[in-house]
Amino acid sequence: MSDAGSTAPPTPLPTRLAFADALAAVLDDVAALPPERVPLRAALGRALAADVVSPVDLPPWDNAAMDGYAVRAADVRGASADGPVTLRVAGAIPAGGDASAVTLAPGDAARISTGAPVPSTADAVVRVEDTDGGAQVVCIVDDRDVRGDAPQRRNVRPRGEDVRAGARALGGGATIDAAALGVLASVGCATVPVARRPRVAIVSSGDELVTVEEFAEVVAGRRIVSSNTYTLEAQARLAGADVAELGFARDDVGAMRDRFAAALDGGCDVLVTSGGISVGEHDHTREALGALGLAQRFWRARIRPGGPLGFGVLPRPDGRVVRWLGLPGNPVSAMVTFELFGRPLLRRLGGHQRAFRRAVAVTLAERVATPAPLTHFLRASVDVDDDGRLVARLTGAQGSNLLTSMACADALLVVPEAVGEVPAGGVLRALLLGSDALDAEAAFA
Ligand code: AMP
Ligand code: MG
Repeated sequence: MSDAGSTAPPTPLPTRLAFADALAAVLDDVAALPPERVPLRAALGRALAADVVSPVDLPPWDNAAMDGYAVRAADVRGASADGPVTLRVAGAIPAGGDASAVTLAPGDAARISTGAPVPSTADAVVRVEDTDGGAQVVCIVDDRDVRGDAPQRRNVRPRGEDVRAGARALGGGATIDAAALGVLASVGCATVPVARRPRVAIVSSGDELVTVEEFAEVVAGRRIVSSNTYTLEAQARLAGADVAELGFARDDVGAMRDRFAAALDGGCDVLVTSGGISVGEHDHTREALGALGLAQRFWRARIRPGGPLGFGVLPRPDGRVVRWLGLPGNPVSAMVTFELFGRPLLRRLGGHQRAFRRAVAVTLAERVATPAPLTHFLRASVDVDDDGRLVARLTGAQGSNLLTSMACADALLVVPEAVGEVPAGGVLRALLLGSDALDAEAAFA
């Protein structure tokens, strides 16, 4: 019978995973890529591949916290404007100078600069503002720096106070920010062991897509710029990946398979596809990857936007595993699913202990209602109100094609599956995508 197929029961779609289960599936078994050494400056933004142990004490010697005079505290106690204490200046120690060249006998002081080594015979530094600044003899008019008993030498920063020789200066997995670079420099790391950057190949699919250089075709009609080409590459780079952006695959199983095969041959760790992953008649991504040996881990999750996403692994002949993240084509769905799944995956591969955005409790400036029992990630902006509370506002309509409301958002407001509606004033969590304040008042008020 020619219509035998139409009487067969439709193949049931696989169960859609809850968000947490989908995320766990993507991160299952993900370890940092092998380490490599890079020059110190190039380590910015990378993750330390191993603990860094300091070979030296930091600071390397007891040093002055103030410009002033190294003294014996007992000589100075009681000094005041009415009863100044006069000391003989036995020497001067500049930063980088030699403290052993100066020995303080009772009644002696040594001029000293901030950071300079403090002679072992001194037990305090009196700030220059409390003296007459004398060169041969110095008159001290205030004893505030030596008054009373103190467990530690006053205005003296002890050797090893910051880092002790043999101790861990930074832990493996730390993201190397500006301060970490400074610590690495201070403990002598001219090169730094970091996890290799993940390599990501990005392929967008859709017969309607053109590049921005082909914008004339958009103006002429029937074409759109593949915004995902640009957003996903940008997101992957911001997550620390090296990106090979491999253009478009046509909506054709064979063309897709060839494009994906080329991407895999290029040696990526992660293949990100956009589009062709839903239930439409032109959605061939999974079939094309199936022909390349895809072991699909899941398809579709109970989230919005981005419900149709897929994930799986592609074993390579050389034993490598390529992880596939199949993102929906809608621009916001692609960005949000990359943010939720792709970013943590890349950060983990890149060795970052902190792989996730920070989630904070936010008060809603407006009522929020979600139409379906799915975990919703709503585009929002988060500000601090006069009482210091974080307040979230939606940045516009939430259609998954509306990219400008993503561009205005600095947070994703999370509405759990079981929560359909939250009134204004209610509290939800939001993932902060970036948290720069608009002006100084917002930052410091
Ligand atoms: P798809 O996931 O392929 O069904 O596409 C869903 C919607 O996203 C359609 O409106 C597509 O035109 C659009 N779309 C697909 N791929 C892209 C892309 N790379 N950039 C921008 N929009 C896209
Ligand atoms: Mg499509």
